[in-house]
Amino acid sequence: MTDFARARERMVDAHIARRGVRDRAVLEAMRTVPREMFVEPSLREFAYEDSPLPIGQGQTISQPYIVALMLEAAELGPGGRVLEVGAGSGYAAAVMSRIAARVYTIERHAALAEEAQRRLDTLGCGNVELRVGDGSCGWPEVAPFDAILVAAGAPEPPPALRRQLAIGGRLIVPVGDDGFGQRLRKIVRAGEHEYEEEDLGGVAFVPLIGEQGYAEDGRRAA
Ligand code: SAM
Repeated sequence: MTDFARARERMVDAHIARRGVRDRAVLEAMRTVPREMFVEPSLREFAYEDSPLPIGQGQTISQPYIVALMLEAAELGPGGRVLEVGAGSGYAAAVMSRIAARVYTIERHAALAEEAQRRLDTLGCGNVELRVGDGSCGWPEVAPFDAILVAAGAPEPPPALRRQLAIGGRLIVPVGDDGFGQRLRKIVRAGEHEYEEEDLGGVAFVPLIGEQGYAEDGRRAA
């Protein structure tokens, strides 16, 4: 076993399983995806600390525990179709590709998307489709989704994303900007026009920039 593989095992045990994540598929997937591949070489030694790390363009790869928490809340299964908004480094998409049938992921920064695509190709994640664009409006052409995960803080859960959930589908979204007590919310589409909401706790994500997110200057988009 390599040093990275050992560090990965330790991280999953100490920071994820021991903190209460029980979903075996999530734990297993996180034991297999090499997070060191998703950060630049100078940061690889920190890849298995439970913290976000910079990935360029002012963005971050999310903290592993939060990725696990979101994936468990999304209740991904082997037949599931999932949308991620904010591909970033591609790490969470790679983890999801080990659990769900099909993963769609959107990233607004072309340079990050290009790097993420290269990593996903290297790892053979053939069930992931990545595109560059504004994910705050979702991906209507391939909706509905069993789960939608938003990896950036929105002013409110984007209505377009609610509408792109299948009945019974789960939307996991940080709400609020990180300076003002951002909360992770789980929204379940219980019926055609019926949604149930749950608060999963405080988080700190970069802002969702887009038509149904914040404007570039951090203000709420009109
Ligand atoms: N899931 C990522 C990973 O595993 O590395 C981490 C994502 S990072 C915390 C949030 C990402 O959301 C950033 O890369 C940012 O550029 C992207 N983002 C912000 N607003 C977006 C939008 N409207 N559409 C798509 N991506 C967006």
